[in-house]
Amino acid sequence: MSDIAVILPDGTELSVEEGATVRDAAFAIGPGLGKDTVAGVVDGELVDKETPLHDGADLVIVTDQSDEYLDVLRHSAAHVFAQALQRLHPEAKLTIGPWTDDGFYYDVTSVDLEQEDLEAIEDEMRDIIEADLDIERVLVDREEALEKYADNPYKRDILEDEAAGDDELSFYQQGEFEDLCKGPHVESTGEIGAVKLLNISAAYWRGDEENDTLTRVYGTAFESESDLEDFLDMREEAKERDHRKLGQELNLFAIDETTGPGLPLYQPNGKRILDELADYAKQLNLDAGYDPVETPHLFRTELWKKSGHYENYVDDMFLLDVNDEEYGLKPMNCPGHATIFDQQSWSYRDLPVRYFEDGKVYRKEQRGELSGLSRVWSFTIDDGHLFVRPDQIEDEINLIIDNILTVFDTFGLDAEVALATRPEKSVGSDEIWEQAETQLRAVLDDSGIDYGIEAGDGAFYGPKIDFAFKDALGRKWDGPTVQLDFNMPDRFDLTYTGEDNEDHQPVMIHRALYGSYERFFMVLIEHFNGKFPFWLAPEQVRILPISDDQMGYAKKLQYELGDFRVDIEDRSWTLGRKIREAQTDRVPYMVIVGGDEEEAGTISVRDRKEREAKDVSVEAFRDHLRSEYDEKRPEPDFLADEE
Ligand SMILES: [Zn+2]
Ligand SMILES: [Zn+2]
Repeated sequence: MSDIAVILPDGTELSVEEGATVRDAAFAIGPGLGKDTVAGVVDGELVDKETPLHDGADLVIVTDQSDEYLDVLRHSAAHVFAQALQRLHPEAKLTIGPWTDDGFYYDVTSVDLEQEDLEAIEDEMRDIIEADLDIERVLVDREEALEKYADNPYKRDILEDEAAGDDELSFYQQGEFEDLCKGPHVESTGEIGAVKLLNISAAYWRGDEENDTLTRVYGTAFESESDLEDFLDMREEAKERDHRKLGQELNLFAIDETTGPGLPLYQPNGKRILDELADYAKQLNLDAGYDPVETPHLFRTELWKKSGHYENYVDDMFLLDVNDEEYGLKPMNCPGHATIFDQQSWSYRDLPVRYFEDGKVYRKEQRGELSGLSRVWSFTIDDGHLFVRPDQIEDEINLIIDNILTVFDTFGLDAEVALATRPEKSVGSDEIWEQAETQLRAVLDDSGIDYGIEAGDGAFYGPKIDFAFKDALGRKWDGPTVQLDFNMPDRFDLTYTGEDNEDHQPVMIHRALYGSYERFFMVLIEHFNGKFPFWLAPEQVRILPISDDQMGYAKKLQYELGDFRVDIEDRSWTLGRKIREAQTDRVPYMVIVGGDEEEAGTISVRDRKEREAKDVSVEAFRDHLRSEYDEKRPEPDFLADEE
C-alpha cells in the first residue's frame, strides 16, 4: 500500500498508510494518544475516529481533554434523550438531533410533549447513563437503512438527500436503540456526567416554514454535575437579563403584531440610547476621516442585479411593484455607496474615500426565526464603505481595527477576532488576494491582539476579519466585520486615475463598528443588565423630593442640571418607595432633597449601587456628571470613594 500524508495542527506532516483512519493516525503519533482518541477533526469537521483519511487532510485528534469533547458528549446525550423518549413514547418519530453551542436539541414528531413530560424523560435518561451502555458504530447498507425507516419520512429524506451518495450508512447503537448518524460519539452512555432537559419549542423540518412543524426538545450535558450547575446558574442570570424582558420593563422597545413581526419600535428610552450610540459612532467616524452620506430605503431591482445581491438574496428581499417596475427594500447599503462613489471621477491622490451611513436595511428572515432584537426584519447598520488603492489596505485596516477596539473598550466588552482567508471559489487575481491577506495579517500581528485563522472561510469576493463580542456572562455574539471586496468595484466598474494616468480599480472595504444597532443594543442590554453607563442611561438623574414642599426646589435643580436627562419623581409616595422605584428603573443617580437641603442649597446624592452622600454642592455634582458623560465611564462613580 502507498502512503498518504496528513497535516497536524503544528503544521508537520504525518505519513500514514492509505486507508488509515483518524484512530490509526493517532496511534502512529503515539500509543497513549491512540488509546485516548475520542474523535477527530478532519478539514475542520468533527468526525468519528473510524473515518478514513485522505491525502493532504488537516487533522486534529480529539481526546476527552479537547474542547470538541463536549460537543461529542452532547451529541451522545441527544441520542440518550431519543432512546429515553422512545422507551416512554414509542410512537415518537425522530428527525435530527445535533449538538449546539450550549447543549443539544432533538426534533421529534408524532408525539405530544409538554414541559411537564420532560422530567420523566430525564429520569429515564439517567437510567440509561447509569446502565453505561456501549455506544457502537454499525455500518448498514442503503436498502436495509431505507427499510428501517419505512415509516419515517424524515430519516428517509436524509438518506435520499445528504446521504444520497453513500452505499453504506453509519448507525450508532446503544442497547435496544439505534439512530442513523455520522457521529462521533463517546464510548458508552456512562461517560455523560450530567444531563438536563431545558425546554420545548416548535421547529420546522429543514427550518423551512412551508414544511411540517416538529417538536424541538432542548437539553444540555456536561462532564460533571458541578459544570451543569454553573451553567444553570448562568442561564438563570441570562434569563433575568433577557433583552426582551428588560426591553419591556424599561420601556426601551416593542415589537407589535399589528405593525409587523421583526419590525422593532423604539420607545423614547430606547431611542435616547440609540441616539447616544449613533453620536458616538459618528464622532469616531468623523475623527477617522469618513464623510456622511445618505441613501433611501428602496432601489430599483436593477441595482440589486448589478451588485449581484438579487441573484443571491432575492428570497430574503422585500420586493415592491411600482408602475410595473420592480423595486426592492435594500438588504445592504453597499451598492448605494458604490453608486455614490461612481458619481465623480477620482485621482489616486483622492483615495481613500470613506463613506458612512446609519443605513436601515430589510431582510426577510423566516418568521419562526425572529426573536426580540437579535433576529429582525428591519435593522440599521452603522455602515462604512471605503474605496482604497491596494497599497492603502494596511493603513486603512489599521485605523478601522483601532476604532473597533476602542468601541469594545468603551463598553467593557472583550473581543474575539478571526481572520477568514481565501475560499476555493473566489474572484480577484492571486496577486490582489496575496497582497490583501498579507496586509491583514500584518495589521493583526502588529496590533498584538489574539486572533484565529479561519482558513478558506473568507467570502468569494475578499478576505475578512470577524469580531465577536464577549459579554459580562462570557457569552459570545457576532460583532462587526471588516471585509475586503474585489468584486463590487468590478461589477460597478469603479475606477480612479493612477499616477500612470491609467484607470485602476479601487478595493472596496465594508466595515461597521457595532454591526447592527439592533444586535448591539441587545448585547448591551444583557451585558449591562439594563444598568447602562451614565452617558447612555435614558434617565440619568431622578430627583426625589421628600415631600411635595420641595417641588419648587426640585424644579430649580432640574433646570440647573439641564444638560442631562433629569426627571422629578412627583408621585406622593414615601421616600423608601421612591428610592426602590428608581432602583428598579436602574437610574444611575438619585438626588434626594428635603427641607434641610433646600435651606442649605445643597443636595443628597445616592447612586444605584446604594452609595450615598449628604451636603453635596450642586456645582460639584454637575461638574462630575459632565466629566463622567464626556469620558463615557462605565459605572456611576461620583460616590466611588464611599465604598
Ligand atoms: Zn446522532
Ligand atoms: Zn457593505
